[in-house]
Formats: sequence, C-alpha cells, structure tokens
Amino acid sequence: MHQALTATTVTRVRCRSEINRNRVPPRAPLPKADPDLDRSDIQLHFVISIVEDYARKLHMGHGVRCHTCVLGPKSRGSVPLATANPFAAPVIDPQFLSDPDDLSVLQRGVRQARRIMAQEPLAAYLRKELFFDGEPDDATLEQHIRARADTIYHPVGTCRMGQDEDAVVDPELKVRGLRNLRVVDASVMPRLIGGNTNAPTIMIAEKAADMITGRPTLTGTG
Ligand SMILES: Cc1cc2nc3c(=O)[nH]c(=O)nc-3n(C[C@H](O)[C@H](O)[C@H](O)COP(=O)(O)OP(=O)(O)OC[C@H]3O[C@@H](n4cnc5c(N)ncnc54)[C@H](O)[C@@H]3O)c2cc1C
Repeated sequence: MHQALTATTVTRVRCRSEINRNRVPPRAPLPKADPDLDRSDIQLHFVISIVEDYARKLHMGHGVRCHTCVLGPKSRGSVPLATANPFAAPVIDPQFLSDPDDLSVLQRGVRQARRIMAQEPLAAYLRKELFFDGEPDDATLEQHIRARADTIYHPVGTCRMGQDEDAVVDPELKVRGLRNLRVVDASVMPRLIGGNTNAPTIMIAEKAADMITGRPTLTGTG
C-alpha cells in the first residue's frame, strides 16, 4: 500500500477578515522540495483556518495553515488479514516514514512552506507561528513531523495492476488466477500518481467500463 503523508505549518494571523478581504482561496500548488527534480515532489495545501489533527484539536483565534504533502512516498504499508475469518477487519498498517527519504522530503518541504509563508504579501498578515520558535533544526523538524504528520487519505496499491507474478490484477483489471472478477478502484494503481487520487480513480472506472462493454480504446488526438 502506498499512502501520501502530510505535515503542517500553522500560523496565527492578525485578523481573519484581513485575509478574507484580500481573497486568499484554498490552494494546493505543486512545488519542488528538491529543485534538481524534473517534477514536483511535494504538494502544499494552504487553508484559512487553524486545523490540527483534522480538527480534533481546536484552537481559539484566527489563523492559516500550510500542509506539506510528500507526493511520491517510498514507504510502503501493508494490509494483511487479521484472521482466517473473512468478516474480520484487516490489519491496516501504513508504515509511514519507514523509508528515510520520505522524512527528508518532508523536512525540505516544511522548510520551503515556511519560507513561502515568511514572504510578502502573506508575511504582513502573520503574527505567530504555532509550532516553531524561530528556524527549526533538523532534529526539531523530525520530531515535529513524526509527532504531527498524518495521512491525506490517498491510499493506493493494495490490488496492484501489473504483468508480473506479484500483481493482483492484470492490465484489464482482471484478478489473476480467478475468472469473472475485476477490481476497479484506486487500489489497482501500482503507486501514487503524484497528486490527488479521485480524478484518476474515475478515469480508471471509465476505462474499465469501456473494456467491459467492449467499446474501442480511445486514441490520442495528436
Ligand atoms: C476525507 C477524504 C478526503 C479526500 N479528499 C480528496 C480530494 O480532495 N481530492 C481527491 O482527489 N481525492 C480525495 N480523497 C481520495 C478519494 O476520495 C479516493 O481516492 C477515491 O474516493 C477512491 O475511490 P475508490 O472507488 O477506490 O474508493 P471509495 O470512493 O472509497 O469507494 C468505495 C465504495 O465501496 C463501498 N463499499 C465498501 N465496502 C463495501 C461492501 N462490503 N459492500 C458494498 N460496498 C462497499 C463504499 O461505501 C464506497 O462507496 C479523499 C479521501 C478522503 C477519505
């Protein structure tokens, strides 16, 4: 199982209405934590509210937050059966941060988010950062990420599509070794797609519908 992980930078603002007046909508840009890469490795989610632990922990006052999401996590979770009882819930273990590269991408990403937040025009509205007092060193950042990073709910890969022996479904999404059974959902993605998963899941479903009904495969326009 592949699962994206997100860590947060939260800042109090002087006054929520100032931010609203200047129309700062929720945004999710895709910058690079490593500038040498040819594609984005992080996604930033900027939102006008102080949300910690998916709003399970509430804060008084106004604020903004910027989440850093690692787009291509190398950590791999598992979903083994708990018992032989088919009705028992499986044991879901995302094994976040089990690959050290994910931690360094998040560390660089959180630093980049803090640099963006410290620039004008945003900086003029910001008053106090909640989680850091000054520039955090690597150890502080690691502690912050291990304590607060959480899923962004994009798990994939538990029924991986492929042509190798370990793949669960073949390229037509048929379960290998069984007849008349296909899996059509996010679980067939071999790895995360480097962004949000809802639209690609819909695309997979539409493609599967075409394959099942025998409609011709779409070709590129050019
Ligand atoms: C809180 C949250 C926020 C998200 N935000 C975004 C976002 O902003 N953008 C984005 O792109 N993606 C987002 N996602 C991810 C996106 O929702 C998923 O990638 C997508 O829904 C996956 O589609 P799916 O068909 O694989 O699974 P699902 O959409 O989960 O569909 C599974 C379906 O199976 C049904 N089901 C389960 N068990 C049974 C059973 N035993 N019998 C019959 N039916 C059953 C469920 O009721 C459900 O309808 C979010 C996910 C969550 C949880």
